[in-house]
Amino acid sequence: MSRPAQATINLQALRDNLAFARQLSGSKVVGVIKANAYGHGALTIARVLESEQIDCLAVACIEEALELRHNGIQSPILLLEGFYSADELPLIEAYQLTTVIQQQDQIDMLLAYPVKQPLNIWLKLDSGMHRIGFLPQDFPQAYQALTQSGKVRDIVFMTHFSCADDLDSDYTRRQLSTFRRITAGLEGETSLCNSPGVLGWPEAHGHWIRPGLMLYGASPFDVNHPNAGQLKPVMELSSSIIAIRDLPAGVPVGYSATFITNRPTRAGVVAIGYADGYPRHTPSGAPVVINGKRARIMGKISMDMMTVDLTDLPDVNIGDKVTLWGSGLPAAEVAQHAGTIPYELLCNMKRVNVNYIDTPVTTEQPATSEFISL
Ligand SMILES: *Cc1c(COP(=O)(O)O)cnc(C)c1O
Repeated sequence: MSRPAQATINLQALRDNLAFARQLSGSKVVGVIKANAYGHGALTIARVLESEQIDCLAVACIEEALELRHNGIQSPILLLEGFYSADELPLIEAYQLTTVIQQQDQIDMLLAYPVKQPLNIWLKLDSGMHRIGFLPQDFPQAYQALTQSGKVRDIVFMTHFSCADDLDSDYTRRQLSTFRRITAGLEGETSLCNSPGVLGWPEAHGHWIRPGLMLYGASPFDVNHPNAGQLKPVMELSSSIIAIRDLPAGVPVGYSATFITNRPTRAGVVAIGYADGYPRHTPSGAPVVINGKRARIMGKISMDMMTVDLTDLPDVNIGDKVTLWGSGLPAAEVAQHAGTIPYELLCNMKRVNVNYIDTPVTTEQPATSEFISL
C-alpha cells in the first residue's frame, strides 16, 4: 500500500481543451507549459501537444526549454521572458528556440552577438500591464533596430493583458487599441491573448493565441462563463479517508483549535495536506467531494492531512476516495475558498503520485452543488 494522495491527469481532456481553443479562435496556438506545465508534467504534456501538431510551445526560461529539447521535443519553443544574459544566445541558436525581446538590454546583447542564422523573435509591447515590454513610445525604435540589424527573421508582435479575466473592465479594450495603434503598418503577426483573452475577448485573438490555464481545463474567471464552462479539467487531485471518528458537540478539531463542532460530528481524516500543495489557508467550510457528494473541511489544513465533516454522509468509510478538485469540483472554486487562483493551486502540486490516463471525457458531471446541511 502506498499513500493514496494522487493527481490523475487525463490527456484526452487536454486534447479536447486544445481543440476548443483552436475552434474558438481559429488562430495558431502557443501551448504554454511553463512551471512544469502548471504542475501537469511538462514533458508528457509537450509530447501530447506535439502529437496534436501544436504550432509552438512556451516556457519561462531556457532551462525549461532545454529539458524539452533534450527529451526529443521538436516543436518551436518560445521563451516568454526572453534571455537574461548573453551566454544564452548560443543555446538559443543551437536549440532553435524562439525568444521574446522585451527590453533594450536584450537588443544590445543580440546586436553584439554574431548570429549564424537570423533568429525568429517575438517583440513585446507594454500596452498597459507595466511589467515587461517596450513602452509605446519606445516600440517603433526597438522594431527598427532589430529589423535593420540583419539578425532577425520573423517578428511576431505580442502584448499581455492585465485585466482580461475581468469581463466588465474597459482596460483590455484600451490595451488592445494601444497595441493596434503602435503596430499598425509594421510587418509581422500578432499575439495578445492568454486564457481569459481566448475565452472572453474574441476581438483580440490575432494570429497567435497563448493559452495556458485553459488547456488544463481550469477557468480563469471568478464568475460562470459559457466558454469556460466547456473546459474539461485535466487534473483530478484525490486522496482517501484514512480515519473516522465520532466527536461530541463543542470540541475543537485540528491545530490552533479554530473549528469547534456545533453538533455530534462524524469526522473523517483525508491523507492530503499543504506539503502536497493543498493551500494551507483554505478555511473551514471549503468543499471536497466524496462518492459524488460534497463535504466540508473542518479546522486547519495540516502538512499531510485534513479533516472533513462526514456527519451527513453516513455511508462513507475508511478507504473511500476524496476529490480535492477535478470533475465536479473545479480548481477555480477551491481557489476562491482559499483566497487564491487556480494557477497557484495547480503549479504548487508536489509529492503526490501522478497517474496519467487517456479516457474520453463527457460533459462535466457536477457533484451535488449544495451542501447537504451544516
Ligand atoms: C503564462 C503566460 C501565458 C499563459 O497564461 P494563461 O492565463 O495561463 O493562459 C500567456 N502569455 C504569457 C506572456 C505568459 O507569461
